[in-house]
Amino acid sequence: MTTTSRMSPTETVFRLLVGLTGLFFLALGIGFMVFPDIFAVVFSVEPAYGLGVNGIRSDFGGLFLGMSFFCLLGATTGRYRWLAVPIIFLLLIIAGRLIGMGLDGPSSEGVRSLLVELILLVILTGSMVVLAQGSGSNEKSLKISELLSLKTVVGAAVVIAILGGLFLSQKKIGMALVERIAARSMNADVIGDLPDGLHVGLCGSGAPLPDPRRASPCVAVIAGRSFYVVDAGPSSERKMELMRLNPGMVRAVLLTHFHSDHIGDLGELMLKRWTGGSNKSPLEIFGPPGVETVVTGFNLAYSLDSEYRVLHHGPKTVPPAGAGGLARPFHFFPGKTELVIIDADGVRITAFQVDHAPVKPAVGYRFDYKGRSVVVSGDTIPCQSLLDQARDADLLVQEALQPAIVGILRDLAQKIGRHNTAKIMGDIMQYHTSPEDAAKIAKEAGVRHLLLTHIMPPLPASNLKAAFLGDARKFYQGPITIGEDGLLLSLPAGEKQILKSSLL
Ligand SMILES: [Zn+2]
Ligand SMILES: [Zn+2]
Repeated sequence: MTTTSRMSPTETVFRLLVGLTGLFFLALGIGFMVFPDIFAVVFSVEPAYGLGVNGIRSDFGGLFLGMSFFCLLGATTGRYRWLAVPIIFLLLIIAGRLIGMGLDGPSSEGVRSLLVELILLVILTGSMVVLAQGSGSNEKSLKISELLSLKTVVGAAVVIAILGGLFLSQKKIGMALVERIAARSMNADVIGDLPDGLHVGLCGSGAPLPDPRRASPCVAVIAGRSFYVVDAGPSSERKMELMRLNPGMVRAVLLTHFHSDHIGDLGELMLKRWTGGSNKSPLEIFGPPGVETVVTGFNLAYSLDSEYRVLHHGPKTVPPAGAGGLARPFHFFPGKTELVIIDADGVRITAFQVDHAPVKPAVGYRFDYKGRSVVVSGDTIPCQSLLDQARDADLLVQEALQPAIVGILRDLAQKIGRHNTAKIMGDIMQYHTSPEDAAKIAKEAGVRHLLLTHIMPPLPASNLKAAFLGDARKFYQGPITIGEDGLLLSLPAGEKQILKSSLL
């Protein structure tokens, strides 16, 4: 090896940068190998239980260790050709990220990752050019013996020793991590950290059919510091906590109607709001007539549990007067289809009638705060009152069912003799909104952003999104987002933009 003696200062700097990049990939590779799920969370990759964790460990761990190997090989030998390998991988990673952004729109996390990848690409490409100029076209080919040199063997042994040491210290590392992870989640004040404005979080973007990615309908609306919840479908309360939205801070729940997929977690939400905040009065639950029956039923079902909690934790921690819910039914005035139900702390919430026949009454809600507006449709077919309320809104959170896909499921159920399922599939197509109709409403009402939720049927793969949207983009040119659990859309006060991020 004589390359070292001829090295120019520029070459030295770039080789150093490549070496540092290699060490960065090495740290990522070791991290993914040893702590696959923690790194998966940081990189927004959701592991699906044990198999997913192992997939992340091997795929991401292997990828980054491989990239690290070639960077370090380039840095130590000064051979520019080796850098082509991590550069090709980086280009492919960037291509994948751009495809994702094109399909789902940019997110702050995605843009941050893209920036890091572009910086690494510039470093590696620049280094490759500098090293290539330094060595001219006479770069010698690498001999196998060089690969097995003392340097590489020692390097590999060090990496293996680090990996082995970390695996053997799993228990110690685990205990050390517990406090840090717990402190991070317990100290989290997602609501307090949000800028002033209107914020919409999806704690449940699914519908009644089981969907591993989606809880049943639940929309968190944060206006300033006031936290409201529209509907509380099954599993949504846990999702809310996973999103680090404190149920103890919920000011009121607004029910759109009383189908089970919209009320299943009401008891859990009432309970967690009580125990999570030592609240001294029951949770207010607004809804059209019928809300009294629902709230009375949940209060009764949870009455024994409430007694146990007081006995166990004491009335100071869980004041008995704060248990359960208090129904706040509202009625529209004759001839009217809308009613302002809350006007407090700068937030105006208007309930309006929608058409979910034979379910009557069924309503949606419009939130206005400091010039920003959000409309939550509830379950409905397209109707005039929805159009009126959505007029010029910043964001329409619209339920959606794709009849073309549900039709396939219905025919399949019919074919295999599941007649009940086939009948229900046929019926539900009558009282929901297709993505195409949602787009038409958004266009006609002049809505700035359309967020589809209450996704039916479940979409088990992300590349079904285009099929779900059908021809919606033909009818509405604004941004359309297909809702996912954890999604947060932020509408800062006094501005026009809508920012997208994820709380999961
Ligand atoms: Zn419904
Ligand atoms: Zn529903």
